[in-house]
Amino acid sequence: MKMQEKIIDDEIHEKMTLENVFKIFNDNVFPMLNNEEKDYCKELQDFCLELHPRIDKSQDVYVLFPELGKHGYLQRINKWKDFTPYGMKKEILLGTHLSLLDPQLELARLASGILCGNPTFHYYQHGGTGDTIQKVQDELMSGQKIGCIGITEPARGSDAVNLTTICTKTDEGVIYNGEKVYTTNGPKADYFCAYAVYDKAQPRDTMVQAMIKREFGVKTERLKINSVPRVHIAHTILDNVKIPKEYILADDGLGYVRLFEGLVPERLSIMGSGVGICWSGLIYGIIYTNLRQQFGKPVIRYQGVGYGLADLLTKTNAATALALQAASVYDERILFAEKSSEGKSAAEKWVASISSQGKYYLAKLTHEICYEVQQHMGGVSVTDNTPLDELTDISKIEEVIGGSRNIQLLLIQSQIQRFLRLL
Ligand SMILES: Cc1cc2nc3c(=O)[nH]c(=O)nc-3n(C[C@H](O)[C@H](O)[C@H](O)COP(=O)(O)OP(=O)(O)OC[C@H]3O[C@@H](n4cnc5c(N)ncnc54)[C@H](O)[C@@H]3O)c2cc1C
Repeated sequence: MKMQEKIIDDEIHEKMTLENVFKIFNDNVFPMLNNEEKDYCKELQDFCLELHPRIDKSQDVYVLFPELGKHGYLQRINKWKDFTPYGMKKEILLGTHLSLLDPQLELARLASGILCGNPTFHYYQHGGTGDTIQKVQDELMSGQKIGCIGITEPARGSDAVNLTTICTKTDEGVIYNGEKVYTTNGPKADYFCAYAVYDKAQPRDTMVQAMIKREFGVKTERLKINSVPRVHIAHTILDNVKIPKEYILADDGLGYVRLFEGLVPERLSIMGSGVGICWSGLIYGIIYTNLRQQFGKPVIRYQGVGYGLADLLTKTNAATALALQAASVYDERILFAEKSSEGKSAAEKWVASISSQGKYYLAKLTHEICYEVQQHMGGVSVTDNTPLDELTDISKIEEVIGGSRNIQLLLIQSQIQRFLRLL
């Protein structure tokens, strides 16, 4: 890693390698995995170790997309080409490893591969036809093209139902008029998976989900967001954007169904990124505090440091187990289950609720871990000599993307109220 000015002790620095991070990660997480999952992690780790020295942190993350594409690492929930294994647990492990490799790359990858890519898989799963969306999918999954999702608007953040972007039907397709904000990857994107409504008074019944090519007339302006300088995030203008029929993914209210169907895998995937950020912050802190000496002994031996890290390790393991378990249930009872299999609808309800609980807990935990580890490490952790400050910065974003903290709590609260029906 290039540093502006190196002050970290050589002996400590040479131990703070990605290879060593994986050793500690594996020691903690591999006992929770089966052989197929461990082999998949080893493949991911080989990939990360090979790519890591080639990452230039002065460049945007997008130059790395084709590298992800070569290995089918833009997403792993759905099967694309012959890339296996796949499923939600594999996606969680992918997000975890990419966060350990480069958390900003992981943010952009998730927006392109999952938030924009997943709707292309849903399109065919729900009976969509033709080659147009397949071509979009192939371009996104290969990393040759960049995707993003446009839900949030300047006046509609948490209230993602009452959209104000208007859709009008024509003989050729639809026309979108409106604005989106915080579109992750937007300034660089080739494809925008965006939502609009025919009637603002009836958004649920009239919502549309369409895949919009930049050439159709989308304009973007980059927002200045200091915490993720290598990811471009946009104010997106949809001014009379004409979208041909074959790019409509879900019409006449089905857009609303797909929007909410997409949120569960999206939140589970964000949990994967969060697991990686937690382990990354924690492991670099563990290595450093074991080697850094003050008053004649390693600082980890002081209770103020050691007990703090012990508390954070416990929380990280608990959150990892939750993410893996939620993904296992999603795979076994939903993704790979027969359409009408017994228990599927109960599993869907459980996963919907647990994805909010897990997203809430993990996103908040990323911040706690990174901030607290910085305090346990001392001054060096706020310099560019360790990855900690970049991790703390990105933890802020984890809380707000995919629905803010309160929106997760709102959803969990509505679950709690339903428990009364059990009595
Ligand atoms: C870096 C970044 C990347 C993002 N990427 C994307 C993207 O790619 N695509 C996209 O569409 N969106 C994206 N978002 C938008 C993100 O999903 C929204 O920021 C989020 O949904 C919250 O909306 P808001 O910021 O407008 O806050 P608001 O909805 O205005 O909320 C403000 C505050 O009020 C609270 N609040 C709102 N309603 C309630 C309620 N009913 N009960 C209790 N509290 C409430 C919120 O929790 C928050 O604390 C991104 C955001 C950021 C910052």
